[in-house]
Amino acid sequence: AHHHLSRIRAHQDLGAFVAIDEQLTLSQARAADDRIAAGSAAPLEGVPIAHKDIFVTADLPTTAGSRILAGYRSPFDATVVRKLGEAGAVTLGKLSCDEFAMGSANENVAVPAIGFDHAVPVRNPWDTGRIPGGSSGGSAVAVAARLAPGATGTDTGGSIRQPASFCGVTGIKPTYGRASRYGMVAFASSLDQAGPMARSAEDCALLLSAMCGPDPERDSTSLARPAEDFSRQLAGSLDGLRIGVPKEFFGEGVAPGVRAAVDAALAEYEKLGARRVEITLPRTELSIPVYYIIAAAEASSNLSRFDGVKFGHRAKNYRDLADMYAQTREEGFGDEVKRRIMIGTYVLSHGYYDAYYLQAQKVRRMIADDFQQAFAQCDVIAGPAAPSVAWKLGEHGDDPVADYLADIFTLPGSLAGLPGMSVPAGFDGGLPVGLQLIGNYFAEAKLLNAAHAFQ
Ligand code: GLN
Repeated sequence: AHHHLSRIRAHQDLGAFVAIDEQLTLSQARAADDRIAAGSAAPLEGVPIAHKDIFVTADLPTTAGSRILAGYRSPFDATVVRKLGEAGAVTLGKLSCDEFAMGSANENVAVPAIGFDHAVPVRNPWDTGRIPGGSSGGSAVAVAARLAPGATGTDTGGSIRQPASFCGVTGIKPTYGRASRYGMVAFASSLDQAGPMARSAEDCALLLSAMCGPDPERDSTSLARPAEDFSRQLAGSLDGLRIGVPKEFFGEGVAPGVRAAVDAALAEYEKLGARRVEITLPRTELSIPVYYIIAAAEASSNLSRFDGVKFGHRAKNYRDLADMYAQTREEGFGDEVKRRIMIGTYVLSHGYYDAYYLQAQKVRRMIADDFQQAFAQCDVIAGPAAPSVAWKLGEHGDDPVADYLADIFTLPGSLAGLPGMSVPAGFDGGLPVGLQLIGNYFAEAKLLNAAHAFQ
């Protein structure tokens, strides 16, 4: 823990951490040492990790990257935080993320990182002039820059897999419902899912085993499926594993260097005994409008709770109650969050609901069905996690659609609720490229095993 705390301080310019409490970390580490000395060590005893600032924590502030949660302290820990703590993990601090996890570049941050008195975007340690990806950018950077051996992230439409890809780390989003959403500040509830980011599939397996499991009293969408020990399932051979390669993931728009790195990874898999199968996911492009309708709709509903009454920021000057709500939200939310709330309320409103929201739900079902057809022919699907490597800070300027389009390969799996991961596959122009592996429901062990064999 000492070592990592000093690295966090030395590299605070990266903007990865938004909260630390060294005394808290060191006292947790001492308690872990005592348990190790007493011979009663838990599986992650003493392992220092950090949490995306979207998980509420009783011991550290939680902002979800937003001004509207300034000064907020949760009375309880998120289930995932609690479970990792019970498994012996030591908390290094909270990690920067896009506001309410809305973003693909970790540029939509409204709260200061440690060492700063103003909000800063997170920087990619491979090239500090570039974005780390988002929304779990702080988590990816913490692992890539060796500020933490592992971190939690959340993935609604790619927020674990895309930053893992851009920062050259391993990250897995499990099947929707595997990990409890209790205490994860809600963005889009039918999509949000927690997962680990670490240096290897082996480390991800350890963390994921501790994070998963039913939480029926606190998250009704958590699945009854008991937690698995993923670490024990890493030794499997890849002989005969059918890897489905969707042609839509290799079309125009994919950077040649990304395609080359992914092709090389697929060739390596064939050497390891896997068999390549050509498949199709015909509605890949539709996943962008479908996702940005459904996620915005759910966000507009979820974010209605931030009204200045129960949590965080409250406007100082207002005429009456309605004006207090309006002023608080005007001051507290950033531009991207406001954009999503407006899109979301629009697609849910009378007269537009059928044309947008309902239509998007129907296509979402078709996208999930396409995957089931694909999994009749293959065991695992592979392709790039993102069409490009990390772009330059500010490169997408005021064009949110440029960010949205870059999510094209992570959104389909999210809409279907499938597990997916990003594994470092190589480099394009000195910047990391991630190979995305998508599995069928509950196939996390298969994905981790495939990633481990490759690493
Ligand atoms: N980039 C996507 C968005 O902005 C996904 C974010 C996420 O997975 N949290 O909505």
